[in-house]
Amino acid sequence: MSNTAAEIPFIPALYASSREDAQIDMLVLHFTDGPSMEDCVAIFQDPERRVSCHYIVGLDGAILQMVRDEDCAWHCGVSTWRGREGCNRWSLGIEIVNWGRLRKKNGRFYCWPEDYGTPYSGLPPVSAGGDWWAPYPSGQVEQVESLSRLLVERHRIPLENIVRHSDIAPDRKIDPGPAFPWARFKTSMSQIIAGRW
Ligand SMILES: [Zn+2]
Repeated sequence: MSNTAAEIPFIPALYASSREDAQIDMLVLHFTDGPSMEDCVAIFQDPERRVSCHYIVGLDGAILQMVRDEDCAWHCGVSTWRGREGCNRWSLGIEIVNWGRLRKKNGRFYCWPEDYGTPYSGLPPVSAGGDWWAPYPSGQVEQVESLSRLLVERHRIPLENIVRHSDIAPDRKIDPGPAFPWARFKTSMSQIIAGRW
């Protein structure tokens, strides 16, 4: 990883709360549904939005932290996993900068769900399930894996609790979407854990 844990810059998000007595044992991956890290930081500093996340990984692989691990970030919303509701208290969240689902019109791609307002720029979109998606650059995926490895080892998070937002809120959420190499990511995490906890 190009920056180690000690070097990850920190900018505080507006909203975070106490975990009370909950122990961290989950990791949740998201996409930002937006074009840049700056865009995501602005959302986490917007009093109207009332959302936050522990880490953001930029398109270029840069990592930023906005909520301390020991604090509860507001990233899951209404969610359920393995019998527990409201996953924020137990989880860490990583937001991955990604445009998400795209729309195509007259040969150009646009940001979803805006009405053809923001042209997409980036790597060529990928097709999955009848929709177009912004791809994740390989260097960014490597940084997500490195950060996840650090967090999974630090908190001894079990493999079954390493999830996508779409796993814990399937009626509301699609992130990180089909362009994220989930199977490869889970294999990588299983190799790290490998019966150690
Ligand atoms: Zn999400």
